[in-house]
Amino acid sequence: MKNIGFVGLGNMGFFMSKNLSFNNYNVNGYDIDQTVFKNFKKFKVNQASSLNQISAKNDIIITMLPNGKIVKEVWTSLLSEISPNTLLVDCSTIDIETTKYLHNEAEKKDVLSLDAPVSGGTVGAENGTLTFMVGGKQEAYDKMLPLFDIMGNKSILCGTAGSGQATKMCNNLVLAITMFGLGEAIKLANSQSLNMEKFYEVLSTSTASCWALNNYTPIKGVGAQSPADNHFKPGFSSQLMLKDLSLALSAANNANLNLDFGNKILEKYKEHVNDNKGHLDFSDIIN
Ligand code: NAD
Repeated sequence: MKNIGFVGLGNMGFFMSKNLSFNNYNVNGYDIDQTVFKNFKKFKVNQASSLNQISAKNDIIITMLPNGKIVKEVWTSLLSEISPNTLLVDCSTIDIETTKYLHNEAEKKDVLSLDAPVSGGTVGAENGTLTFMVGGKQEAYDKMLPLFDIMGNKSILCGTAGSGQATKMCNNLVLAITMFGLGEAIKLANSQSLNMEKFYEVLSTSTASCWALNNYTPIKGVGAQSPADNHFKPGFSSQLMLKDLSLALSAANNANLNLDFGNKILEKYKEHVNDNKGHLDFSDIIN
């Protein structure tokens, strides 16, 4: 399993493919925007000029793309050409319907497939510390495990096809709500003229402790280094959070579930993006 195809070399795919190439894999990369390859000057990712070149010669093909429509186009093209026994792994965050459809199409061609969205952002991609939430067959997961171990420090086979995407949308629903709640607590703390260092010291070690506060502290100069220390430059953009929340709420609708807080937080991120702040980090919601 030495030849790896990687499609989508943007903010995440760039680092993920780079980490594989530094661990003795022969990585063949393709991006519709061929200018991304200027970033690879020093690195060992081979530049493919078309998707055909990716389908031709790789044992495992990974996609890291913006949305479900694009993943469907790319997988449809790949599936028309790749040989059986290739493993196709989508690490993008996309909707469950498209994910299940693509697993099914892959199965028809005897191609193994996984949905494996990630958590950890661009820092995790760069440092090889991503968490992979995986859906698909054990056999496919076992084949991919050595690569997950290079690109991340945790991968969990959550269940059958689509389970990775379903887990990811639950994770981001909690994250969005938590960040907003934290913003309300910070507002309240400021109104009481609290010392924010002390506020952080207590909350980060008490029952309010959570990843958003401890690892992504949205207060400038306090706690963990985060986008708040850099004018809320992402990180993980508000636009992408809105996409993930829309996927979660749409899945809830399809399951006849009314997620009260989920709907509220979706509206907050819509406002944020409509306010031309979609390019800022999602933690800017606290403002
Ligand atoms: P990005 O926009 O930086 O990168 C996507 C890349 O795909 C771009 O380089 C684009 O040119 C390329 N692309 C688009 N259409 C293509 C096509 N038809 N064929 C080949 N290449 C094509 O996005 P990103 O931040 O790297 O995110 C990728 C995925 O990972 C998204 O689904 C996102 O939701 C998810 N994700 C992102 C983060 C993050 O912090 N950025 C965190 C977790 C998950």
